[in-house]
Amino acid sequence: MVIVHTSTAEVIRERSGEKSTVGFVPTMGNLHQGHLSLLREALKHDPVVYFSIFVNPKQFGPSEDFNKYPRTLEDDLSLIRTVEKEFPSSKIVVYAPASPEEVYPPGYNQRVDVTGLSERLEGANRPGHFEGVATVVYRLFEIVKPREAFFGLKDYQQYLVIRQMALDLSLPLKVTGMPIIRDHDGLALSSRNQYLNAEERVEALTLSRTLKKVKEALDGKKMNLPLAQKIIQETLKDPRWNYLELLDGHSLSRDLSESGLVSLLGVFQLRTTRLLDNIQMELK
Ligand code: AMP
Repeated sequence: MVIVHTSTAEVIRERSGEKSTVGFVPTMGNLHQGHLSLLREALKHDPVVYFSIFVNPKQFGPSEDFNKYPRTLEDDLSLIRTVEKEFPSSKIVVYAPASPEEVYPPGYNQRVDVTGLSERLEGANRPGHFEGVATVVYRLFEIVKPREAFFGLKDYQQYLVIRQMALDLSLPLKVTGMPIIRDHDGLALSSRNQYLNAEERVEALTLSRTLKKVKEALDGKKMNLPLAQKIIQETLKDPRWNYLELLDGHSLSRDLSESGLVSLLGVFQLRTTRLLDNIQMELK
């Protein structure tokens, strides 16, 4: 069963009647297989899954693509219905707020800021972005009250920020990160890929290919950190890169000996489209 609500009051009413635990997948819509992988995973864990589709104005900067961000609710619902058929006894509640005021009623004053983790990488490039993300996810958690919420590791820093927020605020839920779903040629799926023209779509492969090349330098017995750093330095001479950094996978600190989990995170920009990708490695 798929139920669609466009008002927060309806979602709160629906939620208060749930007899079983609830999983949650927050998105901005324009769904692709990356989003659907989160939905499938959530349905494996909980018989009832709330799935939000909301382009959150608070996480866009003044010169960013809030107005042009693709809004495709009818297509999104069709895709959700195809997944629902795979889980016949499930209940999916789609929360697609009719307006930002449904999420932030007039006078709403709350702001959630996860300091530290939010200030680097995407946070440095997009001031206020993670405050907008943490604020909306906190608000959605408050409405949906999930047992478990699912996020893509595609937005790795976002996943870490939400995990930290849940920890700091002792939220009674589990934050789960799910693997990046890629196109056949390695490009991570993203709603923003459709901004690319044919030529840029080819150029975009530089991103995943470079991540792979650095990972290969660090993989297995080789673990050639100087070679990895050299590839990164050479790569950054190309001005299309916003950043490419090898960091601790939990704290995003530069000290790679902290936890043994290392993340390579990069943003490659084609005209105004910033493409994000990352890869995780265990340093032995
Ligand atoms: P968005 O609609 O872009 O805000 O994304 C909603 C959720 O889907 C976030 O948790 C993203 O990290 C996740 N997501 C987006 N693209 C992918 C992908 N290619 N693979 C896995 N998860 C993804």
